[in-house]
Amino acid sequence: MNFLALIEAKREGKTLAREEIQALVTAFTAGQMPDYQMAALLMAIFFRGLTTAETAALTLAMRDSGEVLTFPADPRPLVDKHSTGGIGDKVSLPLAPLLACLGFRVPMISGRGLGITGGTLDKLDSIPGFQTALPVSKIIAQVQGLGCVICGQTDTMVPADNKMYALRDASATVPSIPLIVASILSKKLAENLDALLLDVKYGTAAFMPTKAEARKLAAAMTALGNECGVHTRAILTDMNTPLGRAAGNWLEVKEAVACLEGKGPQDLHQLVLECAANLLVQTQKAPTPAAARRLADDCLASGAPRRKWDEMLIAQGANLPAFNALLAQDSTAPVALELPADRAGYVSQCDARIVGEVIRDLGGGRLAQDSKLDYRVGVDRIAKPGERVEKAAPLCRIHAPDAASAAAAGTRLAAAFQLSTGKPAIPSAGARSISSASD
Ligand code: URA
Repeated sequence: MNFLALIEAKREGKTLAREEIQALVTAFTAGQMPDYQMAALLMAIFFRGLTTAETAALTLAMRDSGEVLTFPADPRPLVDKHSTGGIGDKVSLPLAPLLACLGFRVPMISGRGLGITGGTLDKLDSIPGFQTALPVSKIIAQVQGLGCVICGQTDTMVPADNKMYALRDASATVPSIPLIVASILSKKLAENLDALLLDVKYGTAAFMPTKAEARKLAAAMTALGNECGVHTRAILTDMNTPLGRAAGNWLEVKEAVACLEGKGPQDLHQLVLECAANLLVQTQKAPTPAAARRLADDCLASGAPRRKWDEMLIAQGANLPAFNALLAQDSTAPVALELPADRAGYVSQCDARIVGEVIRDLGGGRLAQDSKLDYRVGVDRIAKPGERVEKAAPLCRIHAPDAASAAAAGTRLAAAFQLSTGKPAIPSAGARSISSASD
């Protein structure tokens, strides 16, 4: 195959045939196409785009570059949720056990943090002993037995995306809608799902800064997912403010457990139920969104998902007594420092981007691909938009490795919070805009 001719064709805005795209992906995965040629092709795609048929061909070729999960026949639908990433977004953690208790099978193959956005696997790595690298046979056995698993992509699943993503990251070609669609959907299609819910974020800390752009990405992904035989739906959620009151790997696990115990923040609780309700309707396990929300709410309140969480931890090698001991601690970081408000007022904004950058710089995220994470650091007790704070009352609490980094984080975080004298027009503390992508 003449790769150069195909790169030239895309550079000139021509359409590639399905067989050509398949050949490119196969050759690249097998190491028969050099990285510099793939990087050139990615840049040509970045500027020229892909047609719907080309995006479908790329997605399927990437899915088929490795192993696809094959589950035994079972009446329980196979479902998953994918978020495009945000600050404090720990929804997957309570959602997987909740969905398992609602009668789904959930093979939740998750990722690590990307840029400033957190990754589910990094959060789970903060749990003593918890294993996220599982062989395909164990993933299937756990899903069949327990109903859910949250783990990483194996070396044998979608290797084309592994290689291509690293190259995109290093060639400034990540923010391309067809490349994002193919990357996300190739991995989700390899799970062999019946239904998929996409949580597409927009705002200061999201890939897509505006709701209109998020809607475009959502439309492209839902169209292709449905065309590939997976019932796919998307919601759009606001990521201008962190989700919940905690961000940072361990602090988010702790907040996820609080959510499972009915003590979580309102916006997290609301989004977890919204995700579960959508999947119940998509799979026709509930007749209406309202009935689905009730079903999910009752299930969460029953305590069964909290017990399922512990079962999942044990199944994946966690040391439960050590985990419970960490949960009982107020902070696991060497320093916990409150950030006082310099005046009284209503919180009108808490910029998620600043919060994400501060946590990354405290050691909670990656500055380089091989950065070692400090799971203890982060921010909790975040005052939410709409809430009143008095002068000197805490806007948030910083968990840091030492006093100097806590103080430096405090200075930067002070700029994340905006206070207004009048009550801002926000319906209730922590309320978050969630809308259907098709509204
Ligand atoms: N997440 C992915 O897995 N791939 C992308 O391209 C973007 C977000």
